[in-house]
Amino acid sequence: MSSVLRLTRQGATRYPTVARRSPVSQAHLLRSLSTTAPANEPPKTPLYINGEFIQSRTKDWIEVHNPATQEVVALVPQATPDELQEASRSAAHAFKTWRKTSVLSRQRMMFDYQALIRDHMDELARSIVTEQGKTFVDAKGDVLRGLQVVEAATSIPDLTMGQRLEVAKDMDTYSIREPLGVVAGICPFNFPAMIPLWMFPLAIACGNTTLIKPSERDPGATMILARLAAEAGIPAGVLNVVHGSVNTVNFLCDDPAVRAISFVGSDHAGKYIYDRGSANGKRVQANLGAKNHGVIMPDADRNHTLNQLAGAAFGAAGQRCMALSTAVFVGDSREWQTDLVERARALKVGQGFDADTDVGPVISPQALERIHGLIQSGVDEGAELLLDGRQVSIQGYERGNFLGPTILTKVRPEMRCYQEEIFGPVLVCLEVKTLDEALELINANRYGNGTAIFTRSGATARKFQQEVDAGQVGINVPIPVPLPMFSFTGSRGSFLGDLNFYGRSGVSFYTNIKTITSLWRAEDADHTTASVNMPTMH
Ligand code: NAD
Repeated sequence: MSSVLRLTRQGATRYPTVARRSPVSQAHLLRSLSTTAPANEPPKTPLYINGEFIQSRTKDWIEVHNPATQEVVALVPQATPDELQEASRSAAHAFKTWRKTSVLSRQRMMFDYQALIRDHMDELARSIVTEQGKTFVDAKGDVLRGLQVVEAATSIPDLTMGQRLEVAKDMDTYSIREPLGVVAGICPFNFPAMIPLWMFPLAIACGNTTLIKPSERDPGATMILARLAAEAGIPAGVLNVVHGSVNTVNFLCDDPAVRAISFVGSDHAGKYIYDRGSANGKRVQANLGAKNHGVIMPDADRNHTLNQLAGAAFGAAGQRCMALSTAVFVGDSREWQTDLVERARALKVGQGFDADTDVGPVISPQALERIHGLIQSGVDEGAELLLDGRQVSIQGYERGNFLGPTILTKVRPEMRCYQEEIFGPVLVCLEVKTLDEALELINANRYGNGTAIFTRSGATARKFQQEVDAGQVGINVPIPVPLPMFSFTGSRGSFLGDLNFYGRSGVSFYTNIKTITSLWRAEDADHTTASVNMPTMH
């Protein structure tokens, strides 16, 4: 028998009022579900299926480690095939009623949901620091950037409004946006709250039901978000959380009930999911890896530029898909690199709950080892190590996956440290003579996620914005992640699919357009003669 915590009990069609429940802490929730583990053992993360937090019957558990200590803080199940089927059936069943919910009810729930997330910001951030390692302030930013998508989803009546035109006398053509059905989301480890929130709130607001798979490395924030969704009155089956790794992903790619897949993560997994999901006839949007270049023009504001560059390269330990991991110094600005080293050296490395910490640990010992290898490859291939963070050790946290800010200069495009995404607090610096050379370099890179230019010249900025091939462009803004009234875009190797995440494009991804042409001629009420001619709409 599975152990079940029943949080949602209202019928699927009754949700005009929101029953607020008393908050349950995540640790308490997880412990209350853990039937096999004694109190001193790590809690087992439940599945969330049909409004119930269910302990998996699997024998295959994945450990979640605190990256600052290696302590096992939770266990995540590889959900069994039966459990995955149950989640899919729950979503398919809930869709029958959820799709008929009035748009105002869905809007109302998004209002309640955003308020609950705001109220539980600290709890969410604590879970993120514990499982992912980023600093507490940065973890709150992670929640906030996701919360903004929920806030934008409160505009769902406007966002899904159709079009209508009288195309001939008494004949109307109108288009309406309809939900797809069951949609799935597959998330990476680096934004445990923001990225699930890029996916399911908008999908649900559009009238879909969802199967969300958080990263098996930090599922805690998604579980809190699921609990808050239940508190906001989102009915049973509309949001389901399934866990696991490749087996769960394969299920989501193959399940005939799943109509669309949103994926954010690495190239390898993303291409695989895009190919497998598309081959099964599903709509897929996949945000992949990145190598974001920051171009430093000699006329830029030196102080502003160097501060922005250091923050954007080393913040979140470089584990942001929009981290500025590559600096391109144009002309005389190459001399600023010494100052950059001083700023980077001043950043404090430590565990995320320490209020002074600027740079937390990377996600795993394997990630740390890979990053060390890439730094060494740069040195071996002739780059110069201006700042080496590899020897850093944090008192009391000696087992943590820490790496201090590291700067490699004199990097050339053929080097491995330039070719591969490093995803750690490592900045590679290249030098070019002109803006045209910088553009050529960036546009030849296989990724096209984000980029930024630092300059005091509007003309230079305009030329850069026009000629650079990247999804997000910052002008004196280092991490130009668009607010959710826009969409998060991507070019070349950083994105697969046609419709981007959130904003109007996100709404298009989660809906189908149906176009109806109707003729209601008053005089026909008395006429019974059929016309065999092709309607010409005149
Ligand atoms: P990842 O690809 O390892 O994992 C992402 C998801 O895919 C997880 O849920 C995981 O279970 C699943 N997965 C992993 N390997 C798989 C496989 N072989 N087959 C099927 N499924 C698999 O990514 P990650 O390490 O968690 O996240 C970091 C990556 O995500 C970086 O490359 C980063 O650039 C990228 N990212 C991109 C964006 C963006 O918007 N472009 C945003 C955030 C992160």
